[in-house]
Amino acid sequence: MRRSVLNPRSLPAGRAFAFLAGLFVLAFGAAVVLLALDQQRVIDANARLQAQTLPEIIRYQRLARNLEQLRQEGERIFAVNSHASRQQSIFVVTMTASDPSILAYANAARLARETEQFLGDVVRQSVRDQRRPAERYEEWQRLAERLGAEVDDISTQGINLATQDLNVAANAMQLARYKLMVALLVVGLFLIAFLVLVRHHLIHPLQRINRALSTLGAESPAPDFKPSTMLEIQAVEASILEHHALLRQNEEARKVLEKLANKDSLTGLMNRRHFMLLAETELQRAQRYRRPVTVAMADLDYFKKLNDTYGHAAGDAVLRAFAEMVQDALRQSDLVCRYGGEEFVFLFPEITLLESEKLAERLRMRCAEMEVLLPDARRIEVSVSMGLADASECPIEIALKRADEALYEAKRLGRNRVVCSGGAAGEVENLLL
Ligand code: GH3
Ligand code: MG
Ligand code: MG
Repeated sequence: MRRSVLNPRSLPAGRAFAFLAGLFVLAFGAAVVLLALDQQRVIDANARLQAQTLPEIIRYQRLARNLEQLRQEGERIFAVNSHASRQQSIFVVTMTASDPSILAYANAARLARETEQFLGDVVRQSVRDQRRPAERYEEWQRLAERLGAEVDDISTQGINLATQDLNVAANAMQLARYKLMVALLVVGLFLIAFLVLVRHHLIHPLQRINRALSTLGAESPAPDFKPSTMLEIQAVEASILEHHALLRQNEEARKVLEKLANKDSLTGLMNRRHFMLLAETELQRAQRYRRPVTVAMADLDYFKKLNDTYGHAAGDAVLRAFAEMVQDALRQSDLVCRYGGEEFVFLFPEITLLESEKLAERLRMRCAEMEVLLPDARRIEVSVSMGLADASECPIEIALKRADEALYEAKRLGRNRVVCSGGAAGEVENLLL
């Protein structure tokens, strides 16, 4: 009988693993895209640093340098006494204050213009009064402080610009590192999960199949497969169960056939062929250990007449009844077969000719007492003649021949009797020749 192992929630292995692989590709692809985005941010920050921030920083530096120049020239105007030197400085101040790097920044341009006007006034006043610059020095110091503060401010702005871009790049790189670690972790976990699934859904079922196949036999119990999740595994397991059921059926059929081949279909006794096989073995054993053994031949009397009087079916019923009676009367170790027609052959191990004569006599008497009831309520009585021979020292064929001769003698003497073979050594030799 086929046992179903189909699991309604099962998947084909190919589809299940393709699904897992797809999931893996998606997760890994997403991680790669995220990493690529972070890398792009680093590249963008770097490009911006080179294309915009660095020139801007240079402009800031130039501006800071020019403002510093203004301050230094201013200091010089107050430090020197020569008018020519002051003229020279005011020239440099005018040139510097109109430099494009200063004009580009409103605050710086305003401060430069203020400085230029202030120093210009001081120089002009110094022409008329030599002490005038010293009087205005305090005023200049406040202006010079503002210039210095502006220089610091501009330098800080330049540094901030670079720091911003570098921070963006550093953050993106840091993020990319975390994402890479997460991606590697995901890949690792996925691989572990994949191996666990392969182990659980493929390797273990295959091991179970291998075990089942190595112990599969008609006598072994049906393999107990757990319901598998893989259709392919289920198909193999179902085939194994089917194969096992077939093995059992074949074994049962073989046993039935063996019985049929060894049995007589009418009486259920063993047939002549099977009897001869067993008798041969039994005789060999008895002769090897020098144990007594006898054979007997029985033939129902006037059976033809019985058939003619009551019909063939009645004859069959008598044959069955006789077989039943002898089976009931004999020991387990005694052998009996239907030799053919209404003839039966016996082998009695472990008893002498004398003892077997008594046994045969009992059988004869039980047969004579037997009444076979026909369907039409008529009763049939039957008798049997038996011939016995010792088989402990000769081949089975010789013993049977002697028993047959004794049977013939029993018939000749009037039937319904048992005759023992006297035995003659010459007969054995004749038959062997
Ligand atoms: P005897 O006492 O000398 O043995 O006489 P007999 O009539 O028994 O001997 P014979 O050998 O002449 O007849 C045997 C008969 O047994 C002939 C045959 O029709 C019958 N017979 C053989 N096999 C079967 C069988 O299977 N069923 C039935 N009903 N009769 C059978
Ligand atoms: Mg006969
Ligand atoms: Mg007969």
